[in-house]
Amino acid sequence: MKKERYSFSVEEYMTKERFNKVKKLAKKNQTPFLAVNLSVIKEKYEELKSNMSFAKIYYAIKANPADEVIKLLFELGSNFDIASVYELDQILSLGITPERISFGNTIKKEKDIKYAFDKGIRLFATDSLSDMEKISRQAKGSKVFFRLISEGSGADWPLSRKFGAHPDKIYQLILKSKELGLEPYGLSFHVGSQQRDIGQWDESIAQCRYLFEAVNEKGIKLKMINMGGGFPGKYKNPTYDLPVYTKEITRFLKEDFPEGLPEIIIEPGRSIVADSGVIVSEIVLVSKKSYLSPYRWVYLDIGKFSGLIETLDESIKYPIYVEKSGSVSEVILAGPTCDSQDVLYENFKYKLPAKIKDKDKVYIFTTGAYTQTYSSVYFNGFPPLKMFVIE
Ligand SMILES: *Cc1c(COP(=O)(O)O)cnc(C)c1O
Repeated sequence: MKKERYSFSVEEYMTKERFNKVKKLAKKNQTPFLAVNLSVIKEKYEELKSNMSFAKIYYAIKANPADEVIKLLFELGSNFDIASVYELDQILSLGITPERISFGNTIKKEKDIKYAFDKGIRLFATDSLSDMEKISRQAKGSKVFFRLISEGSGADWPLSRKFGAHPDKIYQLILKSKELGLEPYGLSFHVGSQQRDIGQWDESIAQCRYLFEAVNEKGIKLKMINMGGGFPGKYKNPTYDLPVYTKEITRFLKEDFPEGLPEIIIEPGRSIVADSGVIVSEIVLVSKKSYLSPYRWVYLDIGKFSGLIETLDESIKYPIYVEKSGSVSEVILAGPTCDSQDVLYENFKYKLPAKIKDKDKVYIFTTGAYTQTYSSVYFNGFPPLKMFVIE
């Protein structure tokens, strides 16, 4: 049998020049760390903006809240979606003004709504009566948008079930909001993060159309649809390119709103920052559990608790690169902590060169989103993931 040889095209993910900048950092710094290239973020933002020029972008801060990232996106004209008063304080301190901020979390303490209102926030998401009543008490006259539930099927990192409500419930909330002295402004949904089935947007947009009409009959004119995130980063599982997403979604919108589109908001997180990041890690140990086992265990100095939480259920499959060649064999990849959950990929077998060994560098691509801020504070004494910014 002919042995399969290791092949990985760095250029599929970034130019040689950009990768060399990461390697330069790797020469001077202890692993693990995350290197984020701001030029990539700028390109991603501009690509989305030019392909969907009618939409207002509210960057979902949680994907990567580094000050440098926020400042760059602010300069490029982005608005921001926050989930907590802590994110609010952070971006206000960077000089971002409240009319460019929405409070998109439907799960809020009443005192936090008051805090946000006092700071000037006037746009809030909601999906329940209790939350809406809190908003009406603490943020009188504010605009509210109502989050529709989405199954999240087709998404690698679904957000289903926890957020949103069914259309019949939303209908009742919209009518009630007026009585409570709020401005029923629009609807929102999120089809699930890293959504690879573009048809999912069609279904949610159709629900919006239906609700726009239903409440119009009661004299309420909704003005906005917030389509959330879901746009892709470049991982191992293939997706369509962004322009295919934007073209199809635009078509769905125009089909359902032929008389003219309402105000459209999108809240990209992952698609703006994911491709900008490379985590540089090092192999701690390579071992076999028995002489006849076909698999080697490869333990890295980064794991589920130091930034790679999205490997839960092996949901997100990062492209992984080592600078070695030759024949490959299947490996099980795991993190360094003393927790048996700290295994990254076991069912999906990565193939790495037979020659890899301790202290080899491992480059984990497409790690600019949902990594660094997910890293734990000193579990097992491992420090939180460091991040460097390059341009
Ligand atoms: C997390 C989140 C986003 C970002 O989603 P991505 O799939 O990362 O683009 C957008 N909107 C809301 C409300 C979110 O919770």
